[in-house]
Amino acid sequence: MVPDRIEQLCLEKNMRMTEQRRVIARVLSAASDHPDVEELHRRAHAVDPHISIATVYRTVRLFEEAGIIDRHDFRDGRSRYEEHTEAHHDHLIDMKSGQVIEFVDPEIEALQEAIARKLGYRLVDHRLELYGIPLEE
Ligand SMILES: [Zn+2]
Repeated sequence: MVPDRIEQLCLEKNMRMTEQRRVIARVLSAASDHPDVEELHRRAHAVDPHISIATVYRTVRLFEEAGIIDRHDFRDGRSRYEEHTEAHHDHLIDMKSGQVIEFVDPEIEALQEAIARKLGYRLVDHRLELYGIPLEE
């Protein structure tokens, strides 16, 4: 099988790739919804029932430490994961449904850089999370 993007990055970083790690890498590559460990385990378990939640925990920590995936805390007490990409985006969290919406706003990006500059810094990274409830039902 052709390695997916996360698996490819692991190989480039000389990470030892077991079959279970490969399954978890594929599940993460396929996800677009910022799943938590339990959800990742559910999806990985559907592919290989021998994968334990402890293995998923260990593997996401390994991938995170290698800079391959990003961990988010959207204030619901569960860490959420997504593939790390060079292209930056921010998140809006629907507090009713828990849905995570990705967005990029050039004005906000420019404003943040201007604030950092004004404070005497060159901006290298930032995280912005908006928490909202739908305007209309
Ligand atoms: Zn995201």
